[in-house]
Amino acid sequence: MPEALLIVDYQNDFNPGGALAVSAGDTIAGRINSLARSGRYDLVVATRDWHPPHHSSFAERGGPWPVHCVRETPGAEYHPALDRDPIDVEILKGQVDGSDGYSGFEDTELARILAEHGVDAVTVVGLATDYCVKNTALDALRAGLSVTVDAGAVRGVDVEPGDSERALEELRAEGAAVS
Ligand SMILES: [Zn+2]
Repeated sequence: MPEALLIVDYQNDFNPGGALAVSAGDTIAGRINSLARSGRYDLVVATRDWHPPHHSSFAERGGPWPVHCVRETPGAEYHPALDRDPIDVEILKGQVDGSDGYSGFEDTELARILAEHGVDAVTVVGLATDYCVKNTALDALRAGLSVTVDAGAVRGVDVEPGDSERALEELRAEGAAVS
């Protein structure tokens, strides 16, 4: 049963000091790296939020978020604590105007690449639990994949307190394993 590790948006802007920092986002790098190096996964995929300047998800355009992860800027780079060596495939998402692009499957080649490798199970880690991790995991379930979320390797934005916990509950209810 080929399994992929999906590392979601482990980027500077989502880590402390970034434009849309997730509290304690930097504390999960060790866990992500150890999973990526474990040899347990047939494929290690990393997504990055990769917005055009003035993307529709930004507040200046009436969207919910401050300017973040503009393509080819330091904020859109991987956080330096992330070990890039184990990464087999990189997916750039959030490039389409008019769409939030929360899911790694949205307007990307991810589904095709997983299918090409015969992947039928994924473990999802990264940032943020209540947005891009959640939506990536939901799309993986919709694609018929077996989905695990490693709760020790995700952190959430929690715009409303408890959002991350509710996201994990929703994923459990939809059929994901949360470990
Ligand atoms: Zn974004």
